[in-house]
Amino acid sequence: MRHLTYLLVIILAGLIFAQKTPLQKSDYSAITSHAQISRFLEEVTSAHPWVKYETIGKSVGGRELFAVWFSKSDFVADHSKLKVLIFCQQHGNEQSGKEGALLLIQELLKPENSYLFDKIDFVLVPQVNPDGSETNSRRNKNDMDLNRNHLILSEPETIALHKLFNKYLFEVTMDVHEYFPYGDTYKEFGYRANSDIEAGRTTNLNISGKIRELSKTRYLPFLKKQLNANNISYFEYSPGGPPEKEYIRHSTFDINDGRQSLGIQNTFSFIQEGLNGTDRFLDNIKHRTESQMTGMMALLQFSYDNKYELKQLIAAERSALINNTVSPKVAIQLDHFPDGTKLELPLLSYYTGRDTVITVTNYRPLVKAIHEVTRPAGYLIPSRLIEIIEWADRHQIKYTPYTKQSGDKYEHYFISSIDSIDFEGDIIVNPDVKAHDLGTNLPQDTYLFIPVNQLKNNTIVIALEPKSELGLVTYPGFKHLLQKDGFYPIIRLIR
Ligand SMILES: [Zn+2]
Repeated sequence: MRHLTYLLVIILAGLIFAQKTPLQKSDYSAITSHAQISRFLEEVTSAHPWVKYETIGKSVGGRELFAVWFSKSDFVADHSKLKVLIFCQQHGNEQSGKEGALLLIQELLKPENSYLFDKIDFVLVPQVNPDGSETNSRRNKNDMDLNRNHLILSEPETIALHKLFNKYLFEVTMDVHEYFPYGDTYKEFGYRANSDIEAGRTTNLNISGKIRELSKTRYLPFLKKQLNANNISYFEYSPGGPPEKEYIRHSTFDINDGRQSLGIQNTFSFIQEGLNGTDRFLDNIKHRTESQMTGMMALLQFSYDNKYELKQLIAAERSALINNTVSPKVAIQLDHFPDGTKLELPLLSYYTGRDTVITVTNYRPLVKAIHEVTRPAGYLIPSRLIEIIEWADRHQIKYTPYTKQSGDKYEHYFISSIDSIDFEGDIIVNPDVKAHDLGTNLPQDTYLFIPVNQLKNNTIVIALEPKSELGLVTYPGFKHLLQKDGFYPIIRLIR
């Protein structure tokens, strides 16, 4: 009888705590479909009182975007908890992020991992781009690259994600991808990257230096240790190359991706890149899934271990944005520079099939500003510029109708020519602008005022300055704001 009870307990525990993911049920022979995610979430959340899922929006193709909440209290009711957000599969042909997320759910429901939620509240979005996933294609159904869409926010998938972020203001975030090292130039070179996981931190100079430093000196080494302990290889995300053909750098400083668009709001934010399969699909999917899951788990563990420090640091650095006590200068053009060091890059040889290390001399780990502007008190938007108002609304940026205050002064820009600039290998617009001091004379118009003293402080300046290489004018929907031999219509307010 005792044996029978024991057996029953094991079976019940197995049912509750070890629900197989759809990928496991298929014995790693089929990628999880959107409908299977929905059924899996229904199953696991119905058995667990402190785990629930909701739909946060719909894709272009009408598929639900799911978010899974893990919280032992009402979500964010306990303000002492650290709020963490992980989102996966913005690129539909990067399947292991989603599979890793489902495996993470299974892992987090094990009783031995529930301690994590004594200190953190967690939201997981397993799949940002379900339409792309169903056809195994990178872009969404509007043929947009979602991970270049976080500044303009034109797509329902990215809008839903930012709405979720804005609601809870997560202190820790991670965007999960795959990298593809099998390109032709590397094939010719004879070597390719082969690390199971690469991870990138925030590099935009306008982000809190303390947060960037903590990411580099504490989180990435911690991640490496956690992965290596599980026989998963790791290297810092290092795009570019092949060595000696093109320089190697770390992550982009553009703020239009998932990591940096949240990082620019002084969030502790990362990108994790699993190794893509050689067939971009099922190849080695079990190990790829486990690698992604272990990396996500490392972020949760680090958040748990460093809760007090992270909460305090992020609160202080965000209040500097809100009270506008940040640097008076904003970097709007940046570039990658060498720092005199060489990079020991782990690669796999196509000739011998063995791992090797190549010393990279053309290595540019430093990000420096090449053009800065003085931060104004805010921007005056002529109310006819509906596209800017709608953009501000999508970001939940605060603005008011403008009424003149005594002492308000104005500046605007004359655009004398429209040139171009190389930006991480792309050629983009680079206008020649001359600032004109208007004194206290504001051109007759009705204006909305976007003040910079809010959490989106840096986002606003980087987006609205006409010479910003990361700004709105570099996108097709906004480039009409630049007219040669005309004035840029958005006015800087100096107070
Ligand atoms: Zn990707």
